[in-house]
Amino acid sequence: MGRSRLKINAEAIKENVRKIYEFTGKKIIAVVKSNAYGVGIEFVVPLLEPLEEIDAFAVACVEEGIELRKIGVRKEILILGGVLKGEVKALKEFHLTPVVSDPEHLKVLEDENIPFHINVDTGMGRLGFLEDIPKDPRVKGLMTHLSSPADREFSMRQLRKFEGFLKKFIGNSRMSIHVESSAGLIYKVPFATHVRVGLAIYGEKPLKEYPVDIKPALSFEAQVISVKRLPKGHPVSYGRTFVAQRDIRTAVVAVGYADGLMKTLSNRGYLLFKNKKLPILGAVTMDMTVVQVDGVNIKVGDWVEIVNPKRTFVDLARDAGTIPYEVMCNLSPRVERVIV
Ligand SMILES: *Cc1c(COP(=O)(O)O)cnc(C)c1O
Repeated sequence: MGRSRLKINAEAIKENVRKIYEFTGKKIIAVVKSNAYGVGIEFVVPLLEPLEEIDAFAVACVEEGIELRKIGVRKEILILGGVLKGEVKALKEFHLTPVVSDPEHLKVLEDENIPFHINVDTGMGRLGFLEDIPKDPRVKGLMTHLSSPADREFSMRQLRKFEGFLKKFIGNSRMSIHVESSAGLIYKVPFATHVRVGLAIYGEKPLKEYPVDIKPALSFEAQVISVKRLPKGHPVSYGRTFVAQRDIRTAVVAVGYADGLMKTLSNRGYLLFKNKKLPILGAVTMDMTVVQVDGVNIKVGDWVEIVNPKRTFVDLARDAGTIPYEVMCNLSPRVERVIV
């Protein structure tokens, strides 16, 4: 019954997983942090959990791991953000696997029989050991993260560094090794056993030239709540940043920055109705956005598209001056999620 909704194409998501597996030949650690990039874990994860191509899930923190267990996930769950004091009990109770990337994480796990992965910093400069990688019988995975997958030279340097660590690290042969995120897939890292992918599963291309034929899986729509004619000289929205230069027809759409429509789209973005672009007039507000609908046969109750398979979150984010990750994880709970 929501006035805005996110349509999730279940078949497209499952097909994307198959395509990623076909391309890489590696099992997938599905990254579903931040409520599956805003799409909604309770909608996405039940689609992913039964797929053979998916070996594990990854989330940012212990809280998110617990949420996954509560909705019925039985596969391994990696906690990318390590483990802090006070979280060990939950790790054990919910069988979560932390990725250790700081001596303090190790300290927290002292005397605990909890398996973990280790993160090596080969150039990301965020999480991960730079050297002195702990050797420990509990280690069952080793990872690194590419900071600039679009930069081949730097990425190759990171990969060589990681390979150097791997050679020195005598772990057990069944350890999982994972490096590639969605954009990183292009490197087909020969020594990795898994890929660690988020964005591409949701059908958004991380690079302009992307060799994996993924399918857009998301549509974001909202209803028109008013249509009217504005006379020449009439301003639109807060701050009067738009003034009608002639008589125009406008529609008010029930979507604003509280739903996830970035305010930077004020006066420059557009929404879509039956493939027609409806320019955004004036400031995007919390719950509503005004668009121009001259010559468009549109009425109250009609659904307008913000994102569709031809105009993806990647495209919307580019118009808004940001990245699809940020737009998607700002989709609010008010946006109804519908599986199609
Ligand atoms: C978020 C994240 C990923 C997934 O990245 P995508 O670009 O969405 O595929 C992989 N690894 C780490 C460490 C991450 O934080």
